Amino acid sequence: MSEIHGLAAHAAGAQLLAYKYEPGEIKADEVEVKISHCGVCHSDVHLIDNDWGISKYPFIPGHEIVGSVVAVGSEVKDRKVGERVGIGWQSNSCGICEWCRQGDEHLCAKAQPTCVGRNGGYADRIRVNSRFAIPVPKVLESENVAPLLCGGITVYSPLRNHGVRPSSRVGVIGIGGLGHIGLQFAKAFGAEVTAFSTSKDKEAEAKSLGAHHFVNTRDTGALKKVAGSFDFLLSTVSADQDWQGYVNALRPKGTLCVVGVPPSAIALQAFPLIGGQRAVAGSPTGSPRDLHEMLDVAARHGVKAITEKFAMAKANDAVAKVKKNQVRYRAVLAN
Ligand code: NAP
Ligand code: ZN
Repeated sequence: MSEIHGLAAHAAGAQLLAYKYEPGEIKADEVEVKISHCGVCHSDVHLIDNDWGISKYPFIPGHEIVGSVVAVGSEVKDRKVGERVGIGWQSNSCGICEWCRQGDEHLCAKAQPTCVGRNGGYADRIRVNSRFAIPVPKVLESENVAPLLCGGITVYSPLRNHGVRPSSRVGVIGIGGLGHIGLQFAKAFGAEVTAFSTSKDKEAEAKSLGAHHFVNTRDTGALKKVAGSFDFLLSTVSADQDWQGYVNALRPKGTLCVVGVPPSAIALQAFPLIGGQRAVAGSPTGSPRDLHEMLDVAARHGVKAITEKFAMAKANDAVAKVKKNQVRYRAVLAN
C-alpha cells in the first residue's frame, strides 16, 4: 500500500505541516478509507495545543471523518469496498472486556482514540478497525454529516441517556460545533429548549435550529433570572463558567452534564446539590451502536451540521478560525 499524506502538528500550538506515513500491511480486522471530508472539532485544537498533556508529536489531527472504503482486511465481514462510512473519536477497542461485550466500546479501558497516539483524518486516507467505520445513511450529505461523528454523538448520547423527553426543559450552553447540533437533537427529543450563548448574533439562528429561548450569558444577572428552570443543562463550552449559577438554574432532580472541557476544576457548593437532589455529570462520545442510532435519528429528523468548507490544504486557516470562535458552526475540510 502507498503512503498516506496529511497535515500534522509537530509541536504544541505549531502550524500544521505536510506529513506522510507508511501504513504498512492492512491488518485482518481493518478497513482503509479514502477521506472526502473531516470536521475540525475543538478537541483537535486542544490536542494540537497539548491542552490535555496527552499529545504525542508529530500527529495528524481529525476525528470527524467521512469517506469511502477502499480496502478491507482478510477477516472483515461487516464492511465492503465502495461503502460510504463515518469515523469518529474512536478507532478501536479491545472487543472482549465487560464494556465492549455490552456494546459500550467507548468505555473500554483500551479504547483507541482516532488521533491520539496515531494519525487522524486531516489526510487523504485512514485505517481503522472495521467496527468503528459506521455506514452513513444515503440522505445525509458528507459535508454536513462529518461533524455528527464526534460533535453530534457527544450531544446526542447525554440527551438520550438522561431520558430527555417532551416534558423536559433543556438548556444547551455554548452554541458552537457541538451546541448547534445539540439544539437540533434536543428539539427532536421534544424538549423545551434554551440556548445559552456569549454571542448575541447567534440568537436568530439558534431559534431556527430549535431553541425556544435564548439567554445571552454576557448580560448581568442572566443566570439568576433563570434560577430553578431546567431539568437538563448540557455544557459544550471549553472555558471556565459560572458553574454554581448553572447548578442553581436546575429544577429539583435536574442534571448539569458537562461535555466541553474547561481548563479549571469545577468547584460547587454541596447544599444546592443535596437539597434539590441535583446532579453533575460528564459524558464522552458514544459507542458504534450509539453512532448507528444517532445517524438514523439525524436522517429521519433532518439534523445536520451547518458547515464552513475549507480545502484540506487550508486546515491551518480552519483551526485559527475555530480558536477565534468565528466559525458558523463547524469547519469541515474537504479533499
Ligand atoms: P466550538 O465549536 O469552539 O464551540 C464552543 C462554544 O463555546 C463556542 O462557540 C462559544 O459559544 C462557547 N465559548 C467559547 N469560548 C467561550 C468562553 N470563553 N466563555 C463562554 N463560552 C465560550 O467547540 P466544539 O467543537 O463545540 O467543542 C466544545 C468543547 O467540547 C471542547 O472543549 C471540546 O474538546 C469538547 N468535546 C468533548 C467531547 C466529549 O467527548 N465530551 C467531544 C467533542 C468535543 P457561544 O458563542 O454560543 O458562546
Ligand atoms: Zn471531537
